[in-house]
Amino acid sequence: MTEDKNKKTEKTLKINGVRGMNDLLPADAGQWAHLEHVLRDLTRAYGYEFLRTPIVEATAVFQRGIGEVTDIVEKEMYSFEDRLNGEQLTLRPEGTAAIVRSVIENNLIYEGPKRLWYTGPMFRHERPQRGRYRQFHQFGIEALGFAGPDIDAEIILMGQRLWDELGLKGVRLEINSLGQADERSAHRIALVSYFEKNAAALDEDSQRRLQTNPLRILDSKNPAMQGLIEGAPQLLDFLGEESLKHFNAVQTLLKANNIPCKINPRLVRGLDYYNLTVFEWVTDELGAQGTIAGGGRYDPLIERMGGKAAPACGWAMGMERVLELMKVSGSLPDAAPGCDIFVLHQGGETLTAAMIIAERLRSAGIDTILFCPPDGQSASFKSQMKKADASGAAYAVIIGPDELAKNEAQIKDLRGTGEQRSVALEEVLEQVIDALVGSSE
Ligand code: ATP
Ligand code: MG
Repeated sequence: MTEDKNKKTEKTLKINGVRGMNDLLPADAGQWAHLEHVLRDLTRAYGYEFLRTPIVEATAVFQRGIGEVTDIVEKEMYSFEDRLNGEQLTLRPEGTAAIVRSVIENNLIYEGPKRLWYTGPMFRHERPQRGRYRQFHQFGIEALGFAGPDIDAEIILMGQRLWDELGLKGVRLEINSLGQADERSAHRIALVSYFEKNAAALDEDSQRRLQTNPLRILDSKNPAMQGLIEGAPQLLDFLGEESLKHFNAVQTLLKANNIPCKINPRLVRGLDYYNLTVFEWVTDELGAQGTIAGGGRYDPLIERMGGKAAPACGWAMGMERVLELMKVSGSLPDAAPGCDIFVLHQGGETLTAAMIIAERLRSAGIDTILFCPPDGQSASFKSQMKKADASGAAYAVIIGPDELAKNEAQIKDLRGTGEQRSVALEEVLEQVIDALVGSSE
């Protein structure tokens, strides 16, 4: 039987990426680099230090850290058993639990509080849609070992500064207080009795959570449940003096810094570890995925993860959603500028000379692309010149056999006058620097 040469066999069929996990394409790399640059400056401005944890952790880190009865742990984690030693592992779905694990393991707050930040990919098995992916990227900050409302306010100010810096439009701050465990217990009794009276209106998830974690019902995204949730008893009405004092102090500091915020009594956040202040930044510009960042205080977490009890707070933002909002707000930077110099040649000895010149330029800090023919042989100057134009380079350096015979190269202006002139090979670097400095003046 003769095989159809064009027919793809199993061995040559193309293999696609995993659904909901995206490539970062070169065309978008400049936007990400810009965002990352702004984030680095922001963390430096407030004295936050970088901490990078592994992408894989023991599953227990998230089970204990995030809480068993949460969307993430119940249905969104990529968990697997290590085939070689049977360890239960999970691709991290968020940053905080792992940061706390590392802080405890490395004794990072032994000598006092610490301000930390992180960034990187997170993994959640959700239904992919605009602004919701299975691999997405977060930037987050954590302030560990601080108890007062000052640090709650500081991390919120950082967020506001970031949105301003990025030129985001239409971002609102919503804030709430979850109080302390005893206050939540009292509220829980009222909440359960309210939902039990309306049990028929609860969806399946909520009926289950009524027994396990009724506060989580308030976090439901089911539109059919929103009316019921509106009428539920509010945790704010159950807060004692201390919790209210903390909440009011945060609001006073925000007000003094001209940060508008709206109290949203139903804001509970999707993770179990929060207490006192919780907040989210939301926008109407991104459709259903309107939360760009969220966080709050998580005083119980460090002890719960096996460390010595210490207060903490932080927030995390979704980088894809922020970039999308920058696009909607018209504040994305222009595409990254191209190289400075494009070097053309005709192969053989002219290639050798061109490569030496290109290296010399790069050593002087000049971004240089050397033409490499796709067929590994050679290409006409005409087709090379098209590539030079498309590269964004300001000047082309041309070395053909005629030039090389005279120990010369040509320098051609690609953006301005189009002027082309001969220079001695030894002088190419000097001439290129003069030209680049001249054209940037
Ligand atoms: P949502 O309510 O949209 O599911 P969340 O409460 O689960 O968000 P957090 O755990 O607070 O989200 O994560 C912080 C931020 O990370 C979110 O505000 C959002 O911007 C981003 N984020 C969360 N899940 C995803 C995802 N699957 N894809 C893209 N970004 C996400
Ligand atoms: Mg979620």
